[in-house]
Amino acid sequence: MLMSAEKLVPAHAPMNQFAVVDEELSVGGLPLSRLAARVGRTPFYAYDRGLLSARVAALRAALPPAVKLHYAMKANPMPALVCHMAALVDGIDVASGGELKVALDAGADAREISFAGPGKSLGELRQAVAAGILVNVESFREIGELATISQDLGLPARVAVRVNPDFELKSSGMKMGGGPKQFGIDAERVPEALAEIGRNGLAFEGFHLFAGSQNLKAEAIVEAQQKSVAAARRFAEHAPTPVRFLNLGGGFGIPYFPGEQRLDLAPIGANLAELAGSIRDDLPEASIVIELGRYLVGEAGIYVTRVVDRKISRGQVFLVTDGGLNHHLSASGNFGQVIRKNYPVAIGNRMDGAARETASVVGPLCTPLDLLADKMELAKAEPGDLVAVFQSGAYGVSASPQAFLGHPAVTEVLV
Ligand SMILES: *Cc1c(COP(=O)(O)O)cnc(C)c1O
Repeated sequence: MLMSAEKLVPAHAPMNQFAVVDEELSVGGLPLSRLAARVGRTPFYAYDRGLLSARVAALRAALPPAVKLHYAMKANPMPALVCHMAALVDGIDVASGGELKVALDAGADAREISFAGPGKSLGELRQAVAAGILVNVESFREIGELATISQDLGLPARVAVRVNPDFELKSSGMKMGGGPKQFGIDAERVPEALAEIGRNGLAFEGFHLFAGSQNLKAEAIVEAQQKSVAAARRFAEHAPTPVRFLNLGGGFGIPYFPGEQRLDLAPIGANLAELAGSIRDDLPEASIVIELGRYLVGEAGIYVTRVVDRKISRGQVFLVTDGGLNHHLSASGNFGQVIRKNYPVAIGNRMDGAARETASVVGPLCTPLDLLADKMELAKAEPGDLVAVFQSGAYGVSASPQAFLGHPAVTEVLV
C-alpha cells in the first residue's frame, strides 16, 4: 500500500489533555469562547487547575514515595498558580528574591524552599537567611557572604552545594552542567567548598546537581541521576555534617515539536526507587529531591489570541492575531531554539473544523520573527476566531518581552 506524503511528516503528540465540547476546547470546564468572554479580553493565558493537580498525582504515582517533589517556579511564577502548586508539592525552588517573596506569600513552608541561581546578591542572600530557606551555593563568594550574614543575624545559613558536575545530561534542550559553566561549583572544588562551609559554621544540608532541562529520553535522565548519586557519595566523605538533601535536579521534558513523544516515567521511577534504596546505608539521613518546572505546569496551560485579520499574500494564508512574540517568545521560536519549529496550535473554537487549510499565524508586531505557526494545517479561520497555542503553561509570560512595541500586557487566569 502506498503511504500518503502527509503520513511521512512527523506529527505533534496528541494534545488530548483538554476536552473538546461542541467544537470548542474546554479549559477548567469552560468552553474557550465563554472563557474569553469571562476574561473580558484577548490575548490571555489560561491554566487548568484540574490538569495541574492530575499531573502531580500521576507523577507521585510513578515515583517512589520517598522521593520529594519540588516545583521550580521560574517555569511559571503566577502567584495564584504558585499557591495551587505549593499545596500539592513538597517544596518550591526559587531563583531570585522576587520569586522567594511569591513562594512565601503562597504559603510554602520556608524549610522546604530552596534558592538556586548564579550571582545571588547580598540582599537576596540576607532575605534567604532571614526566611530560613535553603541556599544552594554556587560560588565561594556566596559562602563568604553567607558567613557574614549568619553572624549578623545570629542565624546559621542553611546551605547545600550546587555542583557543576563533570558530566552532562545527554540530549537535553538546555545543558546546565558539565564543562565550564556559570552554574554551581566545579565538582573538583567541592571538597574545598565543604571545608569552607564547615569553617564558617554554616548549616550544611546537602547537594544540588542540576544537569539540564527539557529532556524527553528516560535513559538519559536515569544515567544523569545515577551519576549524580555516585558523585554525591564521593562528596559526602568531605561534608562537615550528614547529608540531608540530595537534589538530583529534574530535566523532565514535555513534547513541543512534531515527532516528539511524551517522556516515559516508568524507568525513571524504577531507577529512583533503586537509588533511594542504595543510599539508605551510607547516607541514612538523606532524602532525594527532584525539582521540576515545565513538566509540572507546561501542559496545563494554553495561550489564547484572537484572529484580527485574515490575509492572503501571493497564495499564502496569514491569520494575524492580537498577540504574538511579545507575550509568547518561546512559541515564536526565539527562546533558545536553534531551528524554528511550530508549537502545537489549533483554532480553539473550531476543534473539529471540517474545512481545513494551510495557514501561518502571525502576531501584530512589525518583525518577521513574530510567528506563532508557520504554514500549519489548521481549521479554516476568520477574524474573531480564537487561536490556541498548547504547551504554554511554562516559560510564557515571564519569559517574554512584553514592552516590545507597546501593545497591552497579556493577562493570565487559573481556571
Ligand atoms: C530552570 C531550572 C529548573 C526548571 O527547569 P524545567 O526545565 O522547567 O523543569 C529547575 N532547577 C533549576 C536549578 C533551574 O535552573
